[in-house]
Amino acid sequence: RNRVSVFDEQLRTVMMSRFAIEGRLRRALDDDGDVAAGLAVNYQPLVDLDTGVIIGFEALVRLADGESPVGPDLFIPIAEEAGIVDRIDLFVLGQALRQTALWAEAGHPLEIVSVNLSASTIMSPELLVELDGAAQALGSAELHLELTERMIIQGTPPVKERLGLLRTNARLGLDDFGTGNSGYAYLMDFPIDFIKLDRTFVGVMEEDAVARAIVSSMVDFAEGLGLGIIAEGVETIGQVDLLRSEGCRIGQGFYYGRPLSAKEFGEVLARQSTG
Ligand code: C2E
Ligand code: CA
Ligand code: CA
Ligand code: CA
Repeated sequence: RNRVSVFDEQLRTVMMSRFAIEGRLRRALDDDGDVAAGLAVNYQPLVDLDTGVIIGFEALVRLADGESPVGPDLFIPIAEEAGIVDRIDLFVLGQALRQTALWAEAGHPLEIVSVNLSASTIMSPELLVELDGAAQALGSAELHLELTERMIIQGTPPVKERLGLLRTNARLGLDDFGTGNSGYAYLMDFPIDFIKLDRTFVGVMEEDAVARAIVSSMVDFAEGLGLGIIAEGVETIGQVDLLRSEGCRIGQGFYYGRPLSAKEFGEVLARQSTG
């Protein structure tokens, strides 16, 4: 009996915070009409591992409403269940494109602009509209759309068809590759241009021979299929060296830089081009 009530109590706390977070997300999105004042976008450098030069960024959303900090690992699943994640993803895409154009104007053109998309965003008609108008902001940059296996599980024929359509304007990548209960199997069914090596493997590849072998085989696998490969969670120079010797050319992680505000990222780009 006691156990049940302790459980109820915990469940209630979880539910309450879910509702609270959903409310915060809705307010963040509704602030100021179309400007989502309660959301912010951070930019994490994507780096050429051979030269150390920043060639792009991954856009990562933040809840910036001044209340207790909550990360996207927690609030994105809540937004997905509440049916509002497409609005978040489109906000992030819009900001990322806008910043890319501003940075190019300031003399810092980028090669890769990467955003994360949830399953329901893939089917959003507004996404297609947004992508059709993206070319000008992108300039010479290539748009990367990062997808997870979780969403592709829901991969019915319409999803597959839509991915094909998105692929005319962007390159599609499988995020967190190798984690979860699958990985390789999805590549048989879905059109993918690159994979992102999950930090679970990258993070321990210096100490763990198995992790290193996994990274090595994933790089070979990608190469064999002509897929791009990007390593995430690069935290040490040792990892950089190993990744390079395995043939991985692009990485991101705390070794190169944490996700930064637009202002900070612009400053880093400016410093990079003055040497
Ligand atoms: P992700 O796509 O795997 O993004 C990488 C996460 O790893 C980010 O966490 C980033 O801050 C963190 N990270 C980067 N470098 C390192 C490192 O060297 N070491 C470690 N330990 N961590 C590193 P973040 O920003 O908290 O995002 C968490 C997840 O939330 C993302 O994982 C992504 O799945 C989701 N997410 C973030 N922004 C968006 C968005 O705009 N839309 C959607 N649908 N999902 C998003
Ligand atoms: Ca990602
Ligand atoms: Ca990832
Ligand atoms: Ca990950």
